[in-house]
Amino acid sequence: MARIVMKFGGTSMAGIERIRNVATRVKREVERGNEVAVVVSAMAGETDRLVNFCREASPLYDRREYDVVVASGEQVTSGLLAIALQALGVRARSWLGWQMPIETSDAHASARITGIDTTALGAAMASGEVAVIPGFQGMAADGRVTTLGRGGSDTSAVAVAAAMKADRCDIYTDVDGVYTTDPRIVPKARKLKYVTYEEMLELASVGAKVLQTRSVGLAMKEGVRVQVLSSFGDAPDGGDLPGTMIVNEEELEEKMERQLITGIAHDKNEAKVTLTAVPDRPGAVASIFSPLAEASINVDMIVQNVAHSTGSTDVTFTVPAAELARALDVLDKAKDAIGYDKVIHDTSVAKITVVGVGMRSHAGVAAQMFKALADRKINVLAITTSEIKVSVLIDEDYTELAVRVLHTAYGLDASDEAA
Ligand code: ADP
Ligand code: ASP
Ligand code: MG
Repeated sequence: MARIVMKFGGTSMAGIERIRNVATRVKREVERGNEVAVVVSAMAGETDRLVNFCREASPLYDRREYDVVVASGEQVTSGLLAIALQALGVRARSWLGWQMPIETSDAHASARITGIDTTALGAAMASGEVAVIPGFQGMAADGRVTTLGRGGSDTSAVAVAAAMKADRCDIYTDVDGVYTTDPRIVPKARKLKYVTYEEMLELASVGAKVLQTRSVGLAMKEGVRVQVLSSFGDAPDGGDLPGTMIVNEEELEEKMERQLITGIAHDKNEAKVTLTAVPDRPGAVASIFSPLAEASINVDMIVQNVAHSTGSTDVTFTVPAAELARALDVLDKAKDAIGYDKVIHDTSVAKITVVGVGMRSHAGVAAQMFKALADRKINVLAITTSEIKVSVLIDEDYTELAVRVLHTAYGLDASDEAA
């Protein structure tokens, strides 16, 4: 007997028929004699709909109330799955974030899980009852509802798996594993049988939304065994189709040769902000980024030119597009302290990133990237690099082209492997 956490994403929960399919998969695990907790997302599109209601109500909405609104999508699907399981003769009940509770920080809309009380949950599961847990939601110390940031159900699942000391955390989604890039953009993308926590962490953090970044960080820290699987279709033997297993580096070394580039990700959810004529003096950049940090707005790429004779320079950076309205508000309030002339902003940009642990010992990865983009006349607006990744900001219209061109340039196309 094993203790398993199964997580189903929005597409897998979109409608009663699909929820019945999920219930059948859960029943299969129960019939194998396993103790099961299920973590569910809201129906596909539902969280977007709820977020839009908040924005419509007020662009600078109260994030505590936003959490009350957006957490409701998962409440619906957890109740529905419990009903569908009961209809199949499986004992099940839902456990809302505040009922367990799943304790979080009070950073509304991007709260961190600080603890999970497993007493009641453990007893229920040990008695053979399936626990259905709405992902994405928790409760702050003051009792208010919180959410974990978009895609946060993955993190809920890994946190529950860690707290319950589960043998496995199976993430069921609408693709059958982690690919070298988004298979919806590049049909020649290759499924990775294994990927290391570190590489998955980087891929997720730069836009491969198949797993939320925090879920991977948590799985790495807590040693949770995570698999990404498809909730659609079965293997010929009636079990799950093979997916992708997240492993540590030693395990990977045993299993296969390391690739130079593991994958390519894109992110259209960034906004570019430029402040013009920022005075060239010590403390100028601090006066921009300190108030943004105080408002918990993450700044990603930064480009600053050296000022020549004018005594001032333009500063360009990116923030999450969802935070643009708040960022502009913060910058407006700090205008006198910073001393800039104008703010220009643009959400029609995309960040493209190549990731690979092999980069550490290999020069020329960035040059190859710039050349492949230049050959297609794709202009680079900003660049950032780390030990195992290179990111460029480009015009959003070229996203698909850039990803495809780079996928081929680094020899990742499925046909290359077969050759
Ligand atoms: P869920 O609702 O199940 O959480 P998501 O939409 O959050 O599903 O994540 C799955 C999607 O991630 C896939 O449909 C795919 O388009 C996208 N994706 C992006 N990059 C990758 C990748 N490298 N491998 C697999 N899927 C990816
Ligand atoms: N429903 C939430 C979202 O769409 C959380 C999740 O699905 O993981 O972001
Ligand atoms: Mg997701």
